[in-house]
Amino acid sequence: MVRASSLKETSECGINFTVLETQQCPAEETRVRIVAQFDADLLPILEILFLHFKNVTYSRELKCIVKKKEGKITSIFGSGKVSITHLADHQEGIENLNHIAELISKAFEYLRQYGPTEPSLIQQHENLNALEIVKLLPQTNCGECGESGCFTFATRLLLGEHEIDDCSELLRDELSACKGDLSKLLQPINLDSIEKQLPSLADLLGL
Ligand code: SF4
Repeated sequence: MVRASSLKETSECGINFTVLETQQCPAEETRVRIVAQFDADLLPILEILFLHFKNVTYSRELKCIVKKKEGKITSIFGSGKVSITHLADHQEGIENLNHIAELISKAFEYLRQYGPTEPSLIQQHENLNALEIVKLLPQTNCGECGESGCFTFATRLLLGEHEIDDCSELLRDELSACKGDLSKLLQPINLDSIEKQLPSLADLLGL
């Protein structure tokens, strides 16, 4: 099944995209893949999105980030093209694209407020591994998170299969600094907390 659309979708945040096609996933015939083109050059904010996502890889050569979660693979290109696989249907694809549009809008706002990302942060996020994560865990291997130990938890946390709060030990007050550091390590930029600032009077007057 191939469903093509030249209709432009406008998300609530005002970022437009056009769905280029919705087709069966090559690897699973009950799932679909959606491909869309956003009306924006995403290159200036690609690294900001990279630092926001967990379980993500970044290719400078392809100018692309690839995020994997629950079998779904989301590829976001600097050119504005976005592809998402393993969707239940076209509608789920549109919902996902609207969410990406919102993140893109927040990433541009982040860029406006704080400027480009630090290369050292990019490198740290690229090289993040379970050993780095386990250093910030309580390392009691208590099993409360449902895993055999802290290292397994760290590995699955990195893959996006756990949330930090799944480690009940980290909820203790005396470990709040470790929890904060871990949160920053996994997600150096949290776009969910970015609010659009109202323009200043000078901006409005074009000064
Ligand atoms: S709950 Fe926390 S401390 Fe206990 S094994 Fe899991 S990660 Fe380690």
